[in-house]
Amino acid sequence: MNNLVDTARNPWDGSWDVVVVGNGLAGSAAALFAAKRGLKVAVVGTGSQLPLSSGLFDLAGMVPGDKAYSTDPWQTVETLVASEPDHPYGKIGREAIGQSFQEFLGLLEAEGLGYQLCESNARVVTSVGTIKASYALPETMAAGATAFEKRDKTLIVGIRGLKGFQANQVAQSAAPAWPGISSVEIAPEGLGRPGDIYPEALARELDLPAGRDRLVQAIRPHLDGHKAVGLPPIFGMERSRETLVHLEDALGVPCFEIPGMPPTAAGVRLREALDRAFSRYGVATFVGGRVTTVSEGEDGFSVTATLRGEARTVFARRMILATGRFMGGGLAGDRHRVTEPLLDLYVTQPASRDLWHRCDLFHSDGHAVNRAGVTADSAMRPLDKEGNPVSQNLFVAGSILAHQDWKREKSGAGISIATAFRAAESCGV
Ligand SMILES: Cc1cc2nc3c(=O)[nH]c(=O)nc-3n(C[C@H](O)[C@H](O)[C@H](O)COP(=O)(O)OP(=O)(O)OC[C@H]3O[C@@H](n4cnc5c(N)ncnc54)[C@H](O)[C@@H]3O)c2cc1C
Repeated sequence: MNNLVDTARNPWDGSWDVVVVGNGLAGSAAALFAAKRGLKVAVVGTGSQLPLSSGLFDLAGMVPGDKAYSTDPWQTVETLVASEPDHPYGKIGREAIGQSFQEFLGLLEAEGLGYQLCESNARVVTSVGTIKASYALPETMAAGATAFEKRDKTLIVGIRGLKGFQANQVAQSAAPAWPGISSVEIAPEGLGRPGDIYPEALARELDLPAGRDRLVQAIRPHLDGHKAVGLPPIFGMERSRETLVHLEDALGVPCFEIPGMPPTAAGVRLREALDRAFSRYGVATFVGGRVTTVSEGEDGFSVTATLRGEARTVFARRMILATGRFMGGGLAGDRHRVTEPLLDLYVTQPASRDLWHRCDLFHSDGHAVNRAGVTADSAMRPLDKEGNPVSQNLFVAGSILAHQDWKREKSGAGISIATAFRAAESCGV
């Protein structure tokens, strides 16, 4: 461990090299990248929506206008940058994007959360039976991509009473693309409480070998020549690697989790692994409070948050803003324009509200408002209206950035991780 910080007495005391505002994927990644570079880091955030996430890390799935996923995410990155030179990927560059993924996945691996990089955008079946492409898969989902690629005879297993997962719906919807898929619903004896079962609770039961044995006993009679078994994301909460190995050894076929409806065990695992990494690197977290005021003086930033009704202030030499888009409050929209409410940064946006959306809500090119946001230079310093850095010590990362539409491009995690990497590097200079 390095950078250990005694936050036990009064966590708000002292000053920090970097304060990160926002505790989503971008803020968490930025805090860890900075702490790994020897900086003393504090994170202030309202909470985190990461437990709601699928756990997949997309790099670049498609170019707006495309109807199908690409098979070469790096080519897609190039196309995105060629069509939008200010795209955040254009400011980071391929080499650093690759490094950011390597370093981030290394941080997670050290916390026991393994990922597999898929250079051709692996295809996985989702909990609604659609096929989704992604660049980095949790290791518990990797066998699903192989089984789909080979169109192996695969059994999707549902669990009676489990919320948010219908095995027959997965199999029926995926069948046109995956003829070898079929489903069964089981009711493993002694697993889950009678009535509604929640994936997170079931995952915790599978952290224990006895829980896994009960699941294996219920699946075994249905194996019947299937070459792979897909399950909802329940492969343990703290021991997912051990659970995967246990199930595969006992059933004798590759097993995989299917990315599920939120909240998912995979998302909770990711959040918990990041929190363990925060402890390892001495990142102090002030989570649960909304930052209401930021002022910059000669020595750096005073960041004031309201936590349980009390205003508290953190002092730091540099700041990374990673407050996301509209949902989390990083951007706000009124009848006329999009604003960045915390620092009142300049927001790149369409000239008028009439231009925010196309008439066709589902147009494959997407909507201009989804590309609105803060424009940054290649160091990730936010720029003002004239194109000059707002401050030498202020940086920005994640989905708040302009010139990208992560939902349409399927580039969410990639933009968060790559821009966090650059912002953290800039803080260390
Ligand atoms: C439901 C869901 C599904 C996802 N699925 C995928 C997927 O399939 N593939 C993929 O690659 N990625 C996925 N992601 C991850 C997604 O890519 C990233 O969350 C996204 O890129 C945005 O990350 P961010 O950190 O920039 O913003 P956010 O995740 O929005 O985080 C910003 C945080 O800052 C907080 N905040 C805002 N203002 C303040 C303030 N004033 N003070 C304190 N805190 C503040 C917000 O409340 C929020 O918690 C998913 C995420 C979610 C939530």
